[in-house]
Amino acid sequence: MSRFWSAITQQLTPYVPGEQPRHQRLVKLNTNESPFDPSPAVMRAIATTTGDMLRRYPDPESVALREAIADRFDLRAEQVFVGNGSDEVLAHAFQGLLKHAAPILFPDITYSFYPVWAQLYGVEFKTVPLRADFSVDVADYRRDNGGIILPNPNAPTGVPLALAEVRRLLEGNRDSVVVIDEAYVDFGGESAAALVPEFDNLLVVHTLSKSRALAGLRVGYALGQEPLIEGLGRIKNSFNSYPLDVLAQRAALASLEDEAWFRDCCAQVIDSREFLREGLEQLGFEVLPSAANFLFASHPEREAGALFSALREQGIIVRYFNKPRIDQHLRISIGTREDCQALLAALEAML
Ligand code: PMP
Repeated sequence: MSRFWSAITQQLTPYVPGEQPRHQRLVKLNTNESPFDPSPAVMRAIATTTGDMLRRYPDPESVALREAIADRFDLRAEQVFVGNGSDEVLAHAFQGLLKHAAPILFPDITYSFYPVWAQLYGVEFKTVPLRADFSVDVADYRRDNGGIILPNPNAPTGVPLALAEVRRLLEGNRDSVVVIDEAYVDFGGESAAALVPEFDNLLVVHTLSKSRALAGLRVGYALGQEPLIEGLGRIKNSFNSYPLDVLAQRAALASLEDEAWFRDCCAQVIDSREFLREGLEQLGFEVLPSAANFLFASHPEREAGALFSALREQGIIVRYFNKPRIDQHLRISIGTREDCQALLAALEAML
């Protein structure tokens, strides 16, 4: 094998997704999926898709879907970019950040795909430490940089950043593209989408995977002013990157039209999150403030890794990151009320 090929493959540290068990019946609280099925309107859109629709190629521009997204945010379709999951949108954003002299910035504790994309695309990066309480201090991002990327709420902590702080970040970095990854914003965060008309350096990235229960469908999108959105399009079309397929476009559109289902599910998840938080605190856990569909919790007397393994043996999977500063935490996705109760009962029996 060529030494160049092996050099590339051996240097990459790939992203490791959470486990997706195939056979066992588990209480699955490890990858922040929705505990609910998608809106019935989504299922109808899929069921009524005809052979005639499937035998043709999909709309390469996803026009109907982009228009529906734009309407939601009072933007134009030209200010919306759609991709196969927000991971694809984010990957393209990283490719767009490539040509800068200064490193891009993101928090030291954040979505673990960011360093992977940076490494893969040769984007120099610097991590910015979170405060001791795991919050982001936007003042720390006032330095020469080639771009900034922040999840809000942050992952895997769930800690939100106030919109006023995001605005401060944008004002202090007018020459840099600032990507706000709002994968979890619908569970109580403040979206920066309304700032798009004001800041030409802002990209807001959303997904239908979490609050719309469509992780299996792979739909995400970015909101931004035309030059950034057009740039993402050029990047996407320069790769063997596919448009959203026919089912994804139809089902995503149906999901966006069912506002009642969306509000109800988000409210239920938030309600269960607070139920779970109280239960964990009663068991002695310290739980970070979360505006997401998961909690980040540690127990002062128990090893997180041991708790993770003991839960796993009982058929309950949560997420454990064996990384500095967070190796005593568990990230627990918000399941149904019964899932939360099962987790609390299992923990109570082991503590
Ligand atoms: N951003 C963050 C912060 C996430 O946690 C995830 C989910 N792993 C994503 C983006 C990607 O989600 P998807 O590709 O399903 O839209």
